[in-house]
Amino acid sequence: MQSKFEQIASFIREKYNTPEGMIFLHEPRFNGNEKKYLTDCIETTFVSSVGKYVTRFEEMIAEFTGAKHAIAAVNGTAALHIALLLCDVKPEDEVITQSLTFIATANAIAYTGAKPIFVDVDKDTMGLSPAALEAWLQANAELRKVDITRIRGGSSLPPSGELKGAFNKLTGKRIKACVPMHTFGHPCRIDEIIAICNRYNIDVIEDAAESLGSYYKEQHTGTFGKFGTLSFNGNKIITTGGGGMILTNDDELAKFAKHITTTAKVPHRWEFVHDMTAYNYRLTNLAAALGCAQMEQLPGFLLQKRKLSEAYSSFFKHLRIDFVTEPENCTSNYWLNALILQNKAEQNSFLEFMNNNEIMVRPVWQLMNRLEMYKDCQCDALTNTEWLADRVVNIPSSVITNL
Ligand SMILES: *Cc1c(COP(=O)(O)O)cnc(C)c1O
Repeated sequence: MQSKFEQIASFIREKYNTPEGMIFLHEPRFNGNEKKYLTDCIETTFVSSVGKYVTRFEEMIAEFTGAKHAIAAVNGTAALHIALLLCDVKPEDEVITQSLTFIATANAIAYTGAKPIFVDVDKDTMGLSPAALEAWLQANAELRKVDITRIRGGSSLPPSGELKGAFNKLTGKRIKACVPMHTFGHPCRIDEIIAICNRYNIDVIEDAAESLGSYYKEQHTGTFGKFGTLSFNGNKIITTGGGGMILTNDDELAKFAKHITTTAKVPHRWEFVHDMTAYNYRLTNLAAALGCAQMEQLPGFLLQKRKLSEAYSSFFKHLRIDFVTEPENCTSNYWLNALILQNKAEQNSFLEFMNNNEIMVRPVWQLMNRLEMYKDCQCDALTNTEWLADRVVNIPSSVITNL
């Protein structure tokens, strides 16, 4: 009689049609027009940040997500950094996010000079908990009048000329933004989070790096907040090698996002005039060419990932192991499949067994508040966060073309 772990290993090897050798967590699939579009870039010499594929990729993403504007960036971290800057996040500000996230979320906040505050996640979505957010704000924040002259970027100005901001009672600093993350592609309760943040005048940036193809109440993730950001890193549902995207419905902010990611160059046929210290964050045409080819395959990837998650779901139900399925009212992209094991000991033995058997499985990221550079940041009790960190494992999730 096989042990549970042996049964899981056999099941995964069978699904991936890989009787022996390494099975990775998430590999890219290039079965479309990738080579054709890349060759086109080389033959036309448009390999850098000017070229038709960058614009086409932006249009494809805007159309797919329903965002009014999509602005390409070199990676998801850069996209987050720009979104925070465009919410006017300054070194003297604070930004709320979850501790259960990939390092990029906290790093992008730190790049602006602002301090992250870590609030708990919900157990079912693994994303920022509206209840925890509300409780933290109620206990720690108060609305105070803000000096309007300090505010840049038209859309944050209220029509009346009076603005209140949320201030941290402990530090006296303004809490300018909130960055919830749609963990492993499962949408968090984004409408509730936005409703709370609106009451405190806190801008919401959705870190939708993992959730391209995921919907909350039939609306694409990353299109609820003032900004949403995507990533096209090698392990994401589609990849450009490295890449990211800023989503927004605000015309002015979209224009500014393009400007600030392209060295703030003022259009001129030959003069080099730049009107601010800005960034060289534009995606290359080569990367975008890959992105266009990948976008053509995204609907297929989503179907195939759903099939795999359904197969996993019934298999793990049979084994009485908790397999994470999409939250209520949501359609998840099932980017990374996840299990919730009994406890830390079982998590450890699972990680040991599978990795010894060349099946890549991973625990959730080391919590942000446990890392050296963020260990002094303010947190709430992080009860669910710590509970999940001791139990969650990700299992192989690459698209299986012929499942
Ligand atoms: C992948 C990812 C990012 C962005 O990563 P890049 O490698 O910079 O594209 C940001 N946040 C989360 C949660 C991610 O998983």
